[in-house]
Amino acid sequence: MKHNYSTISVVQKIASPMPCMSQLVQDKIDEFESRGSEDAFCVGDIGDVITKFNKWKELMPRVEPFYAVKCNSDNVVLKTLADMGAGFDCASKGEISQVMKLGVDASRIIYANPCKQKSFVKYAAKYGVDMMTFDNEAELVKVKDIFPDAKLVLRILPVAQVKVQCQLGNKFGCHPSNVRRLLLKAKELDVNVMGVSFHVGSGVGEAQAFAYAVKQAHEAWEIATELGFKMTLLDIGGGFPGQANAPITFTEIATVVNEALDVYFPSGSGVRIIGEPGRYMVASAFTLAVNIIAKRTVVKEVAGTDSGVNTSEPSHMYYVNDGVYGSFNCIIYDHAHPEPRVISDSPDRFNSSVWGPTCDGLDCIMPECKLPEMDVGQWMYFADMGAYTVAAGSTFNGMPRPQFFYVCNEDLWNQVYPEHTAPKRRCESMSADADFPHFMTGPDMKSLREAANSISCCTE
Ligand code: PLP
Repeated sequence: MKHNYSTISVVQKIASPMPCMSQLVQDKIDEFESRGSEDAFCVGDIGDVITKFNKWKELMPRVEPFYAVKCNSDNVVLKTLADMGAGFDCASKGEISQVMKLGVDASRIIYANPCKQKSFVKYAAKYGVDMMTFDNEAELVKVKDIFPDAKLVLRILPVAQVKVQCQLGNKFGCHPSNVRRLLLKAKELDVNVMGVSFHVGSGVGEAQAFAYAVKQAHEAWEIATELGFKMTLLDIGGGFPGQANAPITFTEIATVVNEALDVYFPSGSGVRIIGEPGRYMVASAFTLAVNIIAKRTVVKEVAGTDSGVNTSEPSHMYYVNDGVYGSFNCIIYDHAHPEPRVISDSPDRFNSSVWGPTCDGLDCIMPECKLPEMDVGQWMYFADMGAYTVAAGSTFNGMPRPQFFYVCNEDLWNQVYPEHTAPKRRCESMSADADFPHFMTGPDMKSLREAANSISCCTE
């Protein structure tokens, strides 16, 4: 396969053994400081995305991943996934256009938004993106009118009550009691229903959620078949965890999914099965480093112990240059709890809080935590910042988005791009003024390891 490298040429290949992310961040901080830059930045480990994709293929070989672009529409991520053969779940004209510009064929896209703007459906029709979801009558009428040849996928509402990070069932999905009525309407309109989809909820906390939902999808499938639709596609949606500290692992979910598929959609059935992973692919790949731009020390009342006497302790308020109006919008929209890590030799920990850079009191990243004492100009970093972060970040108050840098283990890179034997080169950053270091081999690796020895994490 021949590839176009312009999008991914920003990725810095690093020889094995790959240093850990805290080392890479520290190295970048050193580089920023050497040229007097204090801007927030993000390091994206493309090797992590490649590893996730490989693991998906290995553990759920029957399910084709269609990456949910909404989760993180970073072009380097999209291009890498596209080059590995992923499909894409797009929610809008903008996402369809972005993915198609990267050379992805319309057949590898599902327009997985049950409530679509008319002009977006026209756009999908024009470019041949014919697979799309629906969960209500008005949508059927709309699609019949604009794109009668669309391949429609009924999105059902999983009714089992399970713990999830973000509910989606309050907004989307056809309740089981409405499935027959909605399919009868589809019959009356003579549209082409060919699949069933569901989404158990983003960041699901119980693997069994998938077993219940696959069973429910099978029930809807049977009704559709009975009504004469030629059913060929099952879409198991997203919800798969993307970071190591999630309540369940991807492996646990894969086991449950495979078992349920074997019962309800066995491999001999000829059913095509896709999934729409978002956070699974990207959550752990991105680490965000922020600079402390201001600091305030206040006295905080601490409730008394046995003596009943209240004491007061100093508490440090740190203001950093990304916040809830930027990458940390995940705190509000995704119910995330990012934890700061700092580079410090000090064993002492103090009451602290971490705030974003805007003038809004809501812009708080961490209302209470223990940190070593830090100064203005020092850095903190946050792991697992790849999912639902920068995708919904604004520049409210004129605050810039972080700069992006990309790294990848050379061996993993070569798995995807074996024919790409371009000479080692300086890597360009995504921002116009930033300068990216050259290849890290021998001596650079050593200095990274030395730097790592001075790194401690407040959360450890
Ligand atoms: N598919 C659809 C239709 C979604 O709405 C979402 C997230 O909102 C996803 C997939 C991705 O979900 P997750 O990131 O939990 O995998």
